[in-house]
Amino acid sequence: MEKPPHIAIVPSPGMGHLIPLVEFAKKLTAKHNLSSTFIIPNDGTLSTSHHEFLDSLPNTINYTLLPPVNFDDLPQDAKIETRISLMVTRSITDLHAAISSMMETKKIVALFVDIFGTDAFDVAVEFGVPGYVFFSSSAMGLSLCFHLPKLDQMVSCEYKDLPEPIHLPGCIPVHGKDLLDPLQDRTNDAYKRVLHNVKRCVMAHGIVVNSFKGLESGAIEVLLKEEPGKPMVYPVGPLVRSGLVESKGVNESSCLKWLDDQPCGSVLYICFGSGGTLSSEQVIELAMGLELSEQRFIWVVRTPNDKVVDATYFNIHEGIFDFLPKTFLERTKNRGLVVPSWAPQAQILNHSSTGGFLTHCGWNSILETIVQGVPMIVWPLYAEQKMNALLLTEGLKVAMRAKLNENGIVDRLEIVRVVTGLLKGDEGKAIRSRTQELKEAALSALSKDGCSTKTLDQLASKLKNKI
Ligand code: UDP
Repeated sequence: MEKPPHIAIVPSPGMGHLIPLVEFAKKLTAKHNLSSTFIIPNDGTLSTSHHEFLDSLPNTINYTLLPPVNFDDLPQDAKIETRISLMVTRSITDLHAAISSMMETKKIVALFVDIFGTDAFDVAVEFGVPGYVFFSSSAMGLSLCFHLPKLDQMVSCEYKDLPEPIHLPGCIPVHGKDLLDPLQDRTNDAYKRVLHNVKRCVMAHGIVVNSFKGLESGAIEVLLKEEPGKPMVYPVGPLVRSGLVESKGVNESSCLKWLDDQPCGSVLYICFGSGGTLSSEQVIELAMGLELSEQRFIWVVRTPNDKVVDATYFNIHEGIFDFLPKTFLERTKNRGLVVPSWAPQAQILNHSSTGGFLTHCGWNSILETIVQGVPMIVWPLYAEQKMNALLLTEGLKVAMRAKLNENGIVDRLEIVRVVTGLLKGDEGKAIRSRTQELKEAALSALSKDGCSTKTLDQLASKLKNKI
């Protein structure tokens, strides 16, 4: 009997990569009968949220955790990009064994990696399986990847010291200081890992990007142009969770119940993604600003970290709220809900009481928000979030920006300005109406004859034919 076609997916273990890849895999199954297995490199520190997420996958999607890699030799301050890239590099032997054993029962028609996993292409080549990249950020980010090797050759200084902005084809100009985090220090190992991976992208048979024409028309138009040596690009977004999932955990039901009791469009949702952490001083300013604004809020609060801004990327710990201003919880209890560590974001954004989102600008958060037509306040922290924030504010004009003061803090008065401006002001109104237009564009891209649906159909047929 012929073995069924099957996809192998090697993601980085961050939730921001797993979630869209799972949505992608679900679509491939639902419409194209392509099942998949996630083969997950890791360092043995996956959080409860990760395990809950993986254990709730539908039975058409399998997963296997590779043996944890050892990072004892890495310096304490090794950046996240070094870690996630090395997780794949150091898992190659185990990945080889996993694929070999899968091939006994399945016909693997493609191996997908994310942008940090291109070393896995060597395994794909060995088994004669086409390798693909799933790019879980913007088309603008992907344009930067295509452009980076050239930039690296042409520019000798740090990008942040360039006097002029960089013009990526079809995109808004971006200053060097707003490029992704690992590009801010070219001497750091993280920069070398990114460069290594983007150079290897040309080995891919295709690159899937979680975006759509209605959102990034200029960038996508250029990316779709065929050029020798450039892999085909497939914009299939927005791939997001629907927000209609059954609630399970305690946080989930209490959040949604609380929202049920609030007036329509009145609540600001605040969350800094899966990895974002603020300093102790910043947490206090945010709390005081929220209180002073007198607006309703749901805030996903993490224990502050004064050293790094992505402290919970792999491992989220539940904490007690003793770092918040004294009696803050008591004083705001009628208007605010503070949630430890993790909230049912997709469902919160889908709730009619939610009127705005203060976001760290992770790409999934942005797409989830656009699909629900919720206006945003941008507060970028790490990875490519500054570029995303730029796209939302200067490019699409669907967000207000929380500005840092001279000490690098968003102070309480600034928080009052953006929160009341978004929920009550004229700027908020204008942003809301532009966001609605983007929501329509997103729905249209995903409709039966929408551009993203057609692109996915085209890709699925190539996958089945192993092209
Ligand atoms: N998320 C969530 N609850 C939280 C925090 C995050 O459900 O409390 C989900 C969010 O909906 C999104 C993903 O985690 O799907 C975070 O991805 P994003 O790209 O926004 O940011 P990252 O975590 O990668 O920085």
